Amino acid sequence: MTDLKDRKPILQLVGVRKTFNDFAAVEKIDLDIFEGEFFTIVGPSGSGKTTMLRMLAGMEAPSEGNITLHGERINDVPANKRPTCLVFQSLALFPHMSVGQNIEFPLKIKGVDAASRKARALELMAIVRLPASYYGKNVMKCSGGERQRVALARALAYDPEVLFFDEPLSAIDYKLKKVLEKELKDLHRETGKTFIYITHSLEEAMVMSDRIGVMRAGRLVQVGTPEEIYAAPVDRFVSEFVGEVNVIEVTRAGEGWQGVDVPGAFRAAAPHDQPQAHSAFVVIRPEYMRFLKDGEAADNMLEGVVYNEYSLGSRIQYQVRVGEKVMLVELSRANALPAAANRNVRLGWDVADAISVKA
Ligand code: ATP
Repeated sequence: MTDLKDRKPILQLVGVRKTFNDFAAVEKIDLDIFEGEFFTIVGPSGSGKTTMLRMLAGMEAPSEGNITLHGERINDVPANKRPTCLVFQSLALFPHMSVGQNIEFPLKIKGVDAASRKARALELMAIVRLPASYYGKNVMKCSGGERQRVALARALAYDPEVLFFDEPLSAIDYKLKKVLEKELKDLHRETGKTFIYITHSLEEAMVMSDRIGVMRAGRLVQVGTPEEIYAAPVDRFVSEFVGEVNVIEVTRAGEGWQGVDVPGAFRAAAPHDQPQAHSAFVVIRPEYMRFLKDGEAADNMLEGVVYNEYSLGSRIQYQVRVGEKVMLVELSRANALPAAANRNVRLGWDVADAISVKA
């Protein structure tokens, strides 16, 4: 998509809060979602994603704050009066209807004539990559992935400005999911519509999104591009959410840091948003850790013993015990460590390959 700064916000949240009795499911959220962007809300179970989506889609009104669409306050506008459409997790297709009838349903409500409906349904089927021969097929005779496509085509038939996706790929097997992720991204580009997507899988979010909002305990803790979230997580929670990481707790010691949970002195930049921090977490991704050869040095070094080795397909992950802590090292198969089991090793990483986050 084009640069976000050139885009107009379509949905804006200002101080949005949602409470159930005394419990705040969503806390004071300020957020702009731009026209045509693929925005993903990600977070662990119970973090408030569904509540956010329900407010954005008009199924729930905020307890405080405002939601605007093109600058108009829509807090209390119900879902069916908004130019938005939710693609349900459970798909909610009409089981007694054919693929074509399902897709045409929104057009029928609008009073579009039968011939135009069919023509549009076939166009939409092509967009979501369903063969035209499926037009008369009962939707219950379609596979899970095909039904997903029918649901998408039906959502597009409403011609909404914003499409909401509530974990649409969570029940789909890994291989198909990978295919559908890429197709959804293509679909987003082809339609130019605003997609708002909910998932607990950051991996899914990373593949598809222009920007990601990470939620934790009702708060939006970070909003950024996939690259920003990966390379500059705001805190330990986000860094660990992004994938497997090594985290060392440190406190300031002169120019460098002293390990708290791992003995030793470490060199690392200060957290980018807290340059004067007295304590921090140093985060090193397993793929940036390496085994040092005899006599080889690195900015940071640790001694340990390999006690587990896992195949990740093209890569191998090693678990290395360093005192009480387990550190992860990931190498490509071509660089595998020979006779790794129980081997005494020296781990190394460079300052540039670690991130520091505030404690
Ligand atoms: P999941 O990934 O498990 O679906 P989520 O991130 O979507 O979780 P929400 O469903 O938004 O989280 O729930 C956030 C919190 O708000 C949870 O603690 C939940 O129990 C609470 N909550 C949600 N809806 C209600 C409700 N109608 N009444 C009371 N509490 C609710």
